[in-house]
This record gives sequence, structure tokens and C-alpha cells, in this order.
Amino acid sequence: MPQIITRQQLLALIDSLLEAGTKVATPVARGEKAFFQYLEKGDAPLIDPAVFPVNSTKEFFFPRHEILYTFERQGTEVLVTDARPFVAPQVVLGARPCDAAALPLMDRVFGWDFQDRFYQSRRENTTVVSLACAAPDAGCFCTSVDLSPETQAGADAELLPIDDDTFEVRVFTEKGRILFGGKTSESDKTGRTGAAPDRKFDAAQIRERLQTAFETPAFFSEAAVRCLGCGACTYVCPTCHCFDMVDEGSVDKGRKVKNWDSCQFALFTHHASGHNPRHDQGERQRQRVLHKFSIYPEKFGVLLCTGCGNCVRGCVDGLGIRPVLEEIAK
Ligand code: SF4
Ligand code: SF4
Repeated sequence: MPQIITRQQLLALIDSLLEAGTKVATPVARGEKAFFQYLEKGDAPLIDPAVFPVNSTKEFFFPRHEILYTFERQGTEVLVTDARPFVAPQVVLGARPCDAAALPLMDRVFGWDFQDRFYQSRRENTTVVSLACAAPDAGCFCTSVDLSPETQAGADAELLPIDDDTFEVRVFTEKGRILFGGKTSESDKTGRTGAAPDRKFDAAQIRERLQTAFETPAFFSEAAVRCLGCGACTYVCPTCHCFDMVDEGSVDKGRKVKNWDSCQFALFTHHASGHNPRHDQGERQRQRVLHKFSIYPEKFGVLLCTGCGNCVRGCVDGLGIRPVLEEIAK
């Protein structure tokens, strides 16, 4: 039998988690937009399948800024102290299915040649509840990358709206069972998703065409004419994962931190010699498209894009990756 939960029960569940000291992240309205954030006292969770939060839930696993270790000079020695990975339980609730689907893609990156215990610890301690979509907007293209508005990948449980105040709860993992155990009731009603976005291109064809794309810089220079190199598309992308590690402080005392970086920044590949192998924005756009639709798939067998459209919505110039992919398809 389908299991359901009412909005009131869901909000009560969130309250009880917060009271127990569990961190809970959901979308919250800020002006006319919504952002995923950890809930603070007085915040109203925005559990609405028609809302597209600006940011991705990746930051609850791969924060924008994270301390790896601290160092302090003591006489002729240097004391190095590892930062402890995040181990408290947390819940991310209301992730879009295309956002949650990015997590298995990130797992490969942070558990491949190096086991990133900071990322992995957050993953192990986080329960992800996705929310099936009500309707696509102009940025969505999940169906073009073989996903759907109710994709289960990366989620421990999924909420599917039955009406404004009731959700069907589908549980996929033990973490999902623990979160919703005893909180749902049986019903003969089932939830639903809205219409899926039309397929915009054939991803296999894009991959094929990208085989020779490195040798066509003019195409990407043309595509990047309006690109400001601001990096917003990469920061809101659930699958972009570039970071830089820098020392902060002084030679006597400081810390090593891991900060988000972006392949769309001119300085990203700038050498100390002054040479920059990606010297214009077209080459940076080419890198982003090739990484997601050619390099990563060659290594891991799947695309590094979930068609969420965050990069399209988040670009001040209405670019993002989709218009470039549509041009390639033409
Ligand atoms: S595509 Fe848009 S968001 Fe991305 S770097 Fe260029 S201007 Fe910024
Ligand atoms: S490239 Fe754009 S559409 Fe693809 S996952 Fe990133 S933000 Fe979403």
C-alpha cells in the first residue's frame, strides 16, 4: 500500500529533528527566489514541487569552504592538526530529483583515486529526501540525459505530491526507512509528477560529436561570446566539483582550506610563468562541455550532467550549458 504523510506531519517531523539537534536543510524563500539552506529558528521550509531553488544541495556534502588542517610553528617544529570530518547526522529535504541524482556522480569523483573522507563522511551521515517535480521550466532537460522528474538516484526517499497538503512517501534505503518509520500512514492514493520536459537533444549523438570538438575552438569561442566568465553556472551546478587548496594565516600559524573553484575563471589554469593554456572563454566553455559529456563519461560510463537547468537559470546572460549542447546537436 502507498504510504502518505501530510504537510503538517512533515513540518512536525522537521521540528522534531531540529529539536534533537539534527541539521536539516530545505529550500527557504528569499525575496522572489528560493535557496537551500540549513534551517534556523523561525525559518519556514518551502516544500513546493513548483519551486526551483537557485543553489544545489551539493554544498551540504562539498561545502564552499572547508578547513582540512591547522598548523602552528612551535620552536623548530610545526604542529599539524587534522580537522575532524563532519559526523553529525543531517537531513536534506526537498531536493529536486535531478539534484539528488548528482550525488552518485560526485561519489565517483570523491571516492576514486583518493578517498575524500570529508565528503564521504557527510554522505554517510546525510539522509536525502527528494521531491518529485510539478512541471518543468524553460531550463529543464532531464529527459535529454536519460533521467526523469521522479528519478530515484541519490535519494533515500522521495515525496510525490498527492495534493497541496499530502505527499506519497517512497522509501528506497535504510536511512529513508529510519527517517520515516512510524511517521506515515497507508492510503489508496498515490502521488504524481508533472509533465516531463521534451527531449532537447540526443546525448549519445552529442558524445559522438564531441570526439573531435577539441579541434574546433571557433565553435566554442562563438558560443562563449556572451559569457562573462563569472562562474555562477558552476557554483549552482550539482555536479561541478572543482576546488583549490590554499593556506590561510601566516607562516607561524594558519590553516589549509579547500575552496570551490571554477573552470570558467581565467585564473583557473593560469600558470606561475604567466602562461595560460586556456587563454579565452571559448576554451573554458569547451572544457566544461567536454568534461561533462566526454571526459567523465569515458572514465565512469555516465554523463556528468543531470539536466537540472540550474546553470541556465543561474546565468546572468541566460546561457548555461544547454544552449551550447543544442548548438552541437544542430
Ligand atoms: S555561462 Fe553564464 S554563468 Fe557561466 S560563466 Fe558564463 S556568464 Fe557566468
Ligand atoms: S551542467 Fe547545468 S544542467 Fe547539467 S548538471 Fe550542471 S547545472 Fe545542471
